Amino acid sequence: MNRNLPDLFDSWESYRQTCRELSHALAGLAGNQVRLAKKTSNLFRTRTEAEAERLDVRRLRRVIEIDPERRIAEVEGMTTFEDFTDAALLKGLRPPVVPELKTITIGGAVSGVGIEASSFRYGLVHETVEEMEILCGDGTLRICRPDNENADLFHAIPNSYGTLGYILRLRVKLLPAGPFVRLTHRRFFDLTQFLSELEAACARSPQAPDFVEGVAFAPDDFVMTTARLTYERGPVSNYKGMQIYYQSLRCLTEDLLTMRDFLWRWDPDWFWCSRSFGMQNPLLRRLLGRWMLRSSSYWKIQSWYRKWAIEERVNAVRKVLHLPVERFEPVIQDVEVPMEKSPEFLEFYFREINIRPCWICPIRPLDAAGRWTLYSMEPGALYLNFGFWGSVRSSSDKAPGHFNRNVERIVQKLGGRKSLYSQSFFPEDEFWRMYNGAAYQKIKSKFDPQGAFGNLYQKTVLRH
Ligand SMILES: Cc1cc2nc3c(=O)[nH]c(=O)nc-3n(C[C@H](O)[C@H](O)[C@H](O)COP(=O)(O)OP(=O)(O)OC[C@H]3O[C@@H](n4cnc5c(N)ncnc54)[C@H](O)[C@@H]3O)c2cc1C
Repeated sequence: MNRNLPDLFDSWESYRQTCRELSHALAGLAGNQVRLAKKTSNLFRTRTEAEAERLDVRRLRRVIEIDPERRIAEVEGMTTFEDFTDAALLKGLRPPVVPELKTITIGGAVSGVGIEASSFRYGLVHETVEEMEILCGDGTLRICRPDNENADLFHAIPNSYGTLGYILRLRVKLLPAGPFVRLTHRRFFDLTQFLSELEAACARSPQAPDFVEGVAFAPDDFVMTTARLTYERGPVSNYKGMQIYYQSLRCLTEDLLTMRDFLWRWDPDWFWCSRSFGMQNPLLRRLLGRWMLRSSSYWKIQSWYRKWAIEERVNAVRKVLHLPVERFEPVIQDVEVPMEKSPEFLEFYFREINIRPCWICPIRPLDAAGRWTLYSMEPGALYLNFGFWGSVRSSSDKAPGHFNRNVERIVQKLGGRKSLYSQSFFPEDEFWRMYNGAAYQKIKSKFDPQGAFGNLYQKTVLRH
């Protein structure tokens, strides 16, 4: 790691100055719809190009302070996890939950929901946050903590997707880092055995691994990875070039990575989605790897593809030429299901969706998990997050969003939760039942009375 400190760190003075300017700018936009202007994104729903003013928050992209004694960081809201982690590693520390893609920002992961393979120990990203400074719709800046006068806003921010206010700064807990991470991969050909070993690995015990996750390659082919920080040196693997991390899971039983490479193990191949971009072809990898092996590159291409409706245009040409038109429905989702309901979910998944592989990440929300207004979960219960990103073959007799809607139905039936970073098809009444509409409306009218940020249903389902 060789980073320039001014790239990573900002001063309190400069942060305060930017806050004043943003507050002033937002107050001046009263009555208008407002959107964030920022450099990167990991959203998977294109928004309709409605009239909206852009609030340029790009300057708030650095760490302000790291206190090694108290093990906390003061971080600006648009700081990517790549930069946040690099700054923390410089001090021998790490954020407890580092989402797997480098450009996910701390503000995005808290206002959306962020997880990773350490979430069975430390919960979701927002559960590692002690304080937030939030810019509300009228331009007011509010300091929010679980125990101050803005506790209602603090608890309502996770899963609010920027509709209650923009997070400009966060105080985040940190943990000691290590130089290396040792991984153990175990392969299972039986679902019950895989799930029971996964559950056992996540037991609340001081001996528990630092990280646990799984991958379902097929209904009868699973790999569980457990990983621990270590100071023991040895030959380390490199998955930033010709080698592909997810392919190593079925070939190796042990592996060693540097701490940084472990945290970004999924980024160069965007888990496995690099396959759709041809980037698992050795020749393309060698030729283009330097620029392409990064989640942000795939996201840019994908977003360009959606923006210009390339698939629709190709299909229109095929129709004119009387060639068969194949229909596919994009199904890009992350859902959380209680551990005990996971076999039922996987049975549905392989029958109806069958995008392979599927990422499986155990999560155990902390004791206060019931207090998160828009994403409350059972404190201390073990859930499995299933991440699947691809397309399912469809047909003309199926309604738009048929498969995504089936995912929403089964997740509700099983007492789970669905992330809202991608497409959603919920009818409005069902959506508000699921995401605590009554409490949301109250908080919305208190902190964004003029509706500068739009509401959660309009933004995440109607894509306004
Ligand atoms: C293929 C794929 C894999 C994924 N894998 C993971 C994973 O492994 N782990 C994980 O945790 N997540 C994962 N995600 C989901 C990702 O964490 C969310 O999409 C997250 O919200 C992205 O944050 P971002 O910083 O890129 O924000 P953006 O995509 O730019 O914005 C997300 C939303 O948050 C709002 N927002 C952004 N910044 C702020 C702010 N400072 N204050 C208030 N609102 C804000 C925006 O208005 C927007 O509605 C994955 C997504 C995809 C598509």
